[in-house]
Amino acid sequence: MTVAENFQELYGAAPDGVFAAPGRVNLIGEYTDFNDGFVMPLALPQAAVAAVSRRTDGVLRLHSGDVEGGVVSLRADELTPRAPLTAGWAAYPAGVVWALREEGHTSVTGADLHLESTVPTGAGLSSSAALEVVTAFALNELYGLGLSRPELARLGQRAENEFVGVPCGIMDQTASACCTEGHALFLDTRDLSQRQVPFDLSAQGLELLVVDTRVKHALGDGAYAERRAGCEEGARALGVRALRDVGFARLDAALRRLGDERIRRYVRHVVSDDHRVEQVIARLDAGDVRGIGPILTEGHRSLRDDLRVSCPELDLAVETANAHGAHGARMTGGGFGGSAIVLVEGVDAEAVTKAVLEAFAAAGFRAPGVFPAVPSAGARRVLP
Ligand code: ADP
Ligand code: MG
Repeated sequence: MTVAENFQELYGAAPDGVFAAPGRVNLIGEYTDFNDGFVMPLALPQAAVAAVSRRTDGVLRLHSGDVEGGVVSLRADELTPRAPLTAGWAAYPAGVVWALREEGHTSVTGADLHLESTVPTGAGLSSSAALEVVTAFALNELYGLGLSRPELARLGQRAENEFVGVPCGIMDQTASACCTEGHALFLDTRDLSQRQVPFDLSAQGLELLVVDTRVKHALGDGAYAERRAGCEEGARALGVRALRDVGFARLDAALRRLGDERIRRYVRHVVSDDHRVEQVIARLDAGDVRGIGPILTEGHRSLRDDLRVSCPELDLAVETANAHGAHGARMTGGGFGGSAIVLVEGVDAEAVTKAVLEAFAAAGFRAPGVFPAVPSAGARRVLP
């Protein structure tokens, strides 16, 4: 059954509209977004699809076909940040309604929503942002709010930061809202300027594989906050507003001024990864997609050795892929599990996939999920 048919069965009427918002992978620029730096995500074909209707009686009904627990019924005017909802997942779409109303869009009086998502959850592919953005996009369309895609992304981030209580940056929601087919999205997280950079893999006979390790190490729980605090300490020690202001040309001089070895490593990662984003853009603008491979692998080394957010599964995926002819590979997202990306010739994709699966089996790791990341469109209306 389609998402619209499931909506009808659940709520007894056809939806006003059906909308989709994708998950994403980040091509390059990791742990840079809270340093006012650069990121470069692309949207995946995997997406959250939501059938939605307006309601004028203040009731907000939320349902996910992917989790147990039935319909969550709330009142739009009684939503409270960080108040635990009966179903944890419902905080994401409810948070978007809350954020819209907080910002004066009180015409959003309620909704019936049913969603189904093909974005794997907790794999570092931003299933949460897909959920937020599809909700914001749908309500913007159905209530005629006239909000731009970057504004919808910011509302999704606000929902996740303040309503759900997760301190994420702006990358994930921006990717889900703003990406376009055949492109990666360059985003400057300081001024939020963005540019679509051509990234047409199939035209070049290339594939970007996602290796979802299907693990999440507990070590990662406190690591994000620790890295973030360390980066802020580095910026303070160097007298800059954010590490983005150090600049790659002055990196060596900056490192000499830092006494703490740990902070030095963090600074080196962030400043060099911003630089790698610029290098990747230069290559892609020159039409040299294969040329970004070594930059991706260099980025992985930096995340592994300097920021120390990788893990054995991610390292094995990257090493195995590179040993079997990939142009380059790196972990993507927050690390300690989640996913890696691998740039590979289309004709080699099967052999590299097989090698990675065999290496994981030989190491006694859980079998990873491997699929191609086709640069896809951001949020869109599917029906009518
Ligand atoms: P990621 O965004 O990397 O996938 P997060 O922990 O940020 O991981 O978000 C995952 C959470 O988002 C899930 O635990 C769930 O609450 C919510 N979520 C994502 N997809 C769905 C879905 N299809 N149905 C219900 N909840 C979902
Ligand atoms: Mg998330």
